[in-house]
Amino acid sequence: MRLATASKLTGATAEKGNLSWYYDPLPTNCVADWICAGGIGSGYPDFTYCPGPERGYKNLAVFYQACSFDCLFCQNWHYRLAATKQNWVSPMELVDAVDDRTSCICYFGGDPTPQLPHALRASRLALDKNKGRILRICWETNGSMHPASLKQAAKLSLDSGGCIKFDLKAWNEKLHIALCGISNKRTLENFSLLADYAKRRPVPPFLIASTLLVPGYIDEQEVSNIARFIASLDQNIPYALLAFHPDFLMTDLPTTSLQHAERCLTAAKEAGLCRVRLGNIHLLRNEYQDDWI
Ligand code: SF4
Ligand code: SF4
Repeated sequence: MRLATASKLTGATAEKGNLSWYYDPLPTNCVADWICAGGIGSGYPDFTYCPGPERGYKNLAVFYQACSFDCLFCQNWHYRLAATKQNWVSPMELVDAVDDRTSCICYFGGDPTPQLPHALRASRLALDKNKGRILRICWETNGSMHPASLKQAAKLSLDSGGCIKFDLKAWNEKLHIALCGISNKRTLENFSLLADYAKRRPVPPFLIASTLLVPGYIDEQEVSNIARFIASLDQNIPYALLAFHPDFLMTDLPTTSLQHAERCLTAAKEAGLCRVRLGNIHLLRNEYQDDWI
């Protein structure tokens, strides 16, 4: 049964967000860790404290307890349970958690989209309070927000050395609706909008795409179409292909196989992208031996 109502949130405003937060020591297991300022020192010295991985610093991970999608394979579905408990936090309370070893804030969840006014307010206050030192603003999102809000988020990331990580879950719209309960039109339009911003600050990369390789659904043809779309905007946009593990309403599927992942990796490169990588490789299994790699 789809839990559509559980993914909706009411009551959030710019002044109160339903969320939890924690510190994540750098370098962290982030979708962009292979390419970003905190992960490899990209953009040093303007946007990171170290020429390599930013050891000794931490990310403030902000987990918004709501989402605008309803994915069958949701790997963060616990937000649906947490949302019912409700943990209201003001932007200033979040800013108080930014100490002098915090070098980035990452908004995710769920998704920051339903509570974006709160995240924008908190980001501005945090940057204001930490003027004169590096504090990057990053987002991990399904990309379904209003473009006017996205432009505000993009400016904060662009100026601070942060990035926006977009999940491009499927190319085929019908497949996207079947898997995520919603069209991918807004996400693709928003991604195109951001590609222009990406050219303004190539280092560290501003825009990063990722796709979860769901067995039986997101195959090399889907990945090829997504990759060709990205390459048509900019061949240098980094693209991460992520191995799937069974979760939420898709517990009957296996993890992604090595063979499936390699076919998708090849398809993404053949589509013209220069920076493609496989993530979550510890999950890959050998489909011929039906065993872990
Ligand atoms: S929050 Fe941003 S800068 Fe920090 S590790 Fe993640 S992508 Fe890199
Ligand atoms: S967009 Fe992410 S958090 Fe939201 S339902 Fe889909 S997988 Fe879950």
